Amino acid sequence: MTVGAVVAARAAGPRLTAEPAPWPGHVFPAGTAAGAGALAVAALVDPVFLAGARWDRDRQVLRLAPDHPQFGWSACCFPGCLARRRVGGFCQACYGWLTASGIDVTAGGLDLAALPARPPLFREGACAVRGCGRPWRSAGVQLCVWHAEQREHFGMPALEVFLARDDVRPMAGFGPCRVVACDREAVAEHAYCLTHQRRYYKARRQGGFDEARWRAAEQPVTGPGTVMLRGLPPLVTAQVLLGLQRRAADGLKLREDTLRSLVGELRSRQAVTLDDLAGPGEVVQRARMRWLASSLAAYSRRALLDPETERHKDVWDLAAFGHSGHADFTAISQHWLRQCARDYAVDDLSRRRGRDTGGRLRERIALIALLSASLRTRPDHGDDLTAVGRPDIDAFLRRRAMAESTGQAPGSPASARSSASSWSCSGCGRWESPVPAVPRPGFARISRWSPGTCPSGPVPVSPAGTCPPRS
Ligand SMILES: [Zn+2]
Ligand SMILES: [Zn+2]
Ligand SMILES: [Zn+2]
Repeated sequence: MTVGAVVAARAAGPRLTAEPAPWPGHVFPAGTAAGAGALAVAALVDPVFLAGARWDRDRQVLRLAPDHPQFGWSACCFPGCLARRRVGGFCQACYGWLTASGIDVTAGGLDLAALPARPPLFREGACAVRGCGRPWRSAGVQLCVWHAEQREHFGMPALEVFLARDDVRPMAGFGPCRVVACDREAVAEHAYCLTHQRRYYKARRQGGFDEARWRAAEQPVTGPGTVMLRGLPPLVTAQVLLGLQRRAADGLKLREDTLRSLVGELRSRQAVTLDDLAGPGEVVQRARMRWLASSLAAYSRRALLDPETERHKDVWDLAAFGHSGHADFTAISQHWLRQCARDYAVDDLSRRRGRDTGGRLRERIALIALLSASLRTRPDHGDDLTAVGRPDIDAFLRRRAMAESTGQAPGSPASARSSASSWSCSGCGRWESPVPAVPRPGFARISRWSPGTCPSGPVPVSPAGTCPPRS
């Protein structure tokens, strides 16, 4: 098995291929304006995972069940209540109502089936008039504004009596609320649902109110377990879903309200990618949000990584090789030395295990960058490999010693000492280095060599790469 094959086998996630991905109809409805990146990420989302998370593709919403193994939540014990459990096994509203009714919820042996019926709380619902397309005014009234006023006009008969009247006609609905993330019905023409109508009147009192932007960034009205992704760019939606899937596969749990907060942050910032929250330097008020965005983005990104393409880049995401962190080769300016460093890194990563493999590699790259900086002092900036000779290594080792004396050498003090001790003389002019891949014509390995123990004077390096004979 080749090094690349070994590395590929260790890397997480499938590879991208040059073939166009089929339309991910399990993630996006037909016609979604998704770019190639979003489609590639969405294609990796498992339909079985989406079914377990109750993904509503058309409404772009997750309806997570309380018993979901990773994203579950505790529901109120009160029969029929869909709120989150807060106090004594009940939600805040149920607890308050039961306590006010003289029921001690802390007492043992409470018979849930024998609890008295609770008055309806505010929740979404349709007008009780058959065929009426408008939302009800409240759960208590169960009629839209039009029919509630009509009922008052008729002298407030019982609801059943009112509904049975021949002159009560259904009314056409006003369509969906114009807040992008909201899936409720509007309560007036070209307007909003009840909740967003109230929020709209409040928001427009503020200076510089931009209604179009407010509609795009305004949060939906949701309950426990409901995470509305509608209104997010397709790429962000795909990243969130794939990240959740990969986290769940690793057995990592996540509070659904934390996920909802993250999605809210993405929406209010109008993020175009998860990295808008996870990127370095991003100022996110809540550190937990940044951590979660970073985690989901990393899981999503890893799924698309391929070590065979990553190895040709100048900055590597080491997740492609089964390790953490990044490796940056951009400080190595000479093309030949950068390629040597990359070849070395591929070989090194395929051989090592452990948590700090990436850290050790970065130390080695920093050492090679120091060599690169030293070679740049040459008239040809070190770009001509055949012209590099032993004086250049002398110069590099002096630079290295100076960096160590000022505490600026790459790596920890322990690794610096270890590195310094390994740069001893081989006595033959062959350069041995922390770059095993460096043995190229005219530039042999460079380790086990130092100015203090080497024979004085320049030692010619054969253009063919063979060592000069020992004297
Ligand atoms: Zn409750
Ligand atoms: Zn109605
Ligand atoms: Zn709304």
